[in-house]
Amino acid sequence: MEIKQFQAESKRLLDMMINSIYTKKEVFLRELISNASDAIDKIYYKALTDDSLTFDKDNYYIRIVPNKEERTLAIIDTGIGMTKEELEANLGTIAKSGSLAFKQENEIKDGFDIIGQFGVGFYAAFMVADVVTVISKALGATEAYKWESHGADGYTIESTEKAEVGTEIILKLKENTEDESYDEFLDEWRLKEVIKKYSDFIRYPIKMEVTHSKPKDDDSNEYVDYKEEETINSMVPIWKKNKSELTDEDYLNFYNEKRYGFDQPLKHIHISVDGTVRYNAILYIPERAPYDFYTPEYEKGLELYSNGVLIMNKCADLLPDYFSFVKGMVDSEDLSLNISREMLQHDRQLKVIAKNIKNKIKRELENLLKNDRENFEKFYEAFGRQLKFGVYNNFGSEKEVLQDLLLFYSSKEKKLVTLAEYVERMPEEQKYIYYATGDSIDRIDKLPQTELVADKGYEILYFTEDIDEFAVKMLMNYKEKEFKSVSDSDLGIDSPEDQKETEAEEKEYKELFEYMAGVLGDKVKKVKVSKRLKTHPVCLSTEGEVTIEMEKVLNAMPNGQQVKAEKVLEINTHHDVFKSLQHAFENDKEKLELFTKLLYNQALLIEGLPIEDPVAFTNDMCKVMV
Ligand code: ADP
Ligand code: MG
Repeated sequence: MEIKQFQAESKRLLDMMINSIYTKKEVFLRELISNASDAIDKIYYKALTDDSLTFDKDNYYIRIVPNKEERTLAIIDTGIGMTKEELEANLGTIAKSGSLAFKQENEIKDGFDIIGQFGVGFYAAFMVADVVTVISKALGATEAYKWESHGADGYTIESTEKAEVGTEIILKLKENTEDESYDEFLDEWRLKEVIKKYSDFIRYPIKMEVTHSKPKDDDSNEYVDYKEEETINSMVPIWKKNKSELTDEDYLNFYNEKRYGFDQPLKHIHISVDGTVRYNAILYIPERAPYDFYTPEYEKGLELYSNGVLIMNKCADLLPDYFSFVKGMVDSEDLSLNISREMLQHDRQLKVIAKNIKNKIKRELENLLKNDRENFEKFYEAFGRQLKFGVYNNFGSEKEVLQDLLLFYSSKEKKLVTLAEYVERMPEEQKYIYYATGDSIDRIDKLPQTELVADKGYEILYFTEDIDEFAVKMLMNYKEKEFKSVSDSDLGIDSPEDQKETEAEEKEYKELFEYMAGVLGDKVKKVKVSKRLKTHPVCLSTEGEVTIEMEKVLNAMPNGQQVKAEKVLEINTHHDVFKSLQHAFENDKEKLELFTKLLYNQALLIEGLPIEDPVAFTNDMCKVMV
């Protein structure tokens, strides 16, 4: 049977190429510069194996020449050039990559940075140009050729004159339309910007004439413009340099140049991995959170380069959410790109890199905590909240990664401590890690619920952020020690004797407490004897999973479920107020009701909870006063 060839509708194919691969027009320059760089690389490679060739770096460059009068933009290189056949084959066939073939023929695997592989980049030129002219003279050839195309109609090739080996690509830019401007690609500043953005680390100089101005020679105070050729790209990327050659200042300069942030980074991390997936990365831990960090508008991500060419501005997949504050870049030669070189084809390599990076950041933060506590605390002040969210999110799946990076204020140390430090100091008989919640350290200091725990000499962690308690609920325990709120109705502190005494008291005052509970209705689950109070007459505690602090947070969330903590009103039976309660219970029930409501409202105030009826509360106060 005869096998028929597929017929490609080249007109439509080219159209598709031009209009649907790239999201931004400006990348045409990236593609043409990458091709020019590949062409120079090929000479460089040939010189390695061919003694008759010498590669003097100074003779190899790429030049960009905008011409406003002609509306043309030229990209000129001193690379290997193309013969007539190569022009036909490489530029006349969509999806034919001479560069890929070159790599395969020469069995180039490592160490060479040839970028081309898909054989489509060149056609990006038609996004901005009506006519593309390529004048090329191949290495070792005597003749030069001119290839020219108006796009989908095809191309012509003819002999031409060209003195030097290399290629010159001239784009006749499209006329502006109502919604598209092509003039921008004649503008020095715009060109500089695009070159810097995508091609800063091309290894050969990209030169362009740039306008400067200087004072006139006479005394007129006027300025004249003059042009001077400049190298636009920085060429050697800092991440390819040896760590030992680089100073802190170099890293800081890179941070500023890249505008990763406007602060001074607390720490930089330079990674060079030469394993199954090879990559270089420079990461920064910023000192301060950007103004929009804790908003949904904040976009995490690292810059992603493939062989020094920028592929993606913010590759989100490289960072877990809890390290979203990390800034920087990753460069790898092992990425499988799709043909637009914008998205990644499949992400096995990327996943490996992301996992590596995550572990590295974790280790570096742990080092910072260990060796430079002051700076770690600075970091924690800015980003600790994000770490706690990380513990809480995804049902605590990442808590192991993060738990040793958490800090909480300690009642004993009067400063931030780690969970490990807390557990280390725990007396043997102490069963739980105690914490207290409140709006501020000051407020928690004054909480009556902390009295017993503090009296026992136990350390209390102060939770001042709404996420804190949710995060430890996810942790559940640390080094097998469970967390316990000082407001929990069962603190796990009482000795057997204490418990007996409490039980006896509960029995003795049963009727009084039941009466009080009746007065408060469904506001509390019960009223009981307090073991935790020393000097205060009253406080609230909770039974069950939901604490008062959690109730506050959950109810404050937009469309949050209305949850209720099971509140218990605890009474200090050793306080003088208790005698008044007993007296009122026996002689004046109306007074007991008044006292009960007052005590309940006081307990709410101490907790920082709103009083349901402030007017009734002040009226009750007045009743007591008269
Ligand atoms: P790719 O770069 O992915 O191979 P392109 O469409 O960008 O695909 O280019 C197609 C081919 O044309 C290249 O592989 C290369 O062989 C050739 N080519 C393009 N530009 C140049 C140039 N400036 N100098 C020499 N050869 C070039
Ligand atoms: Mg290319």
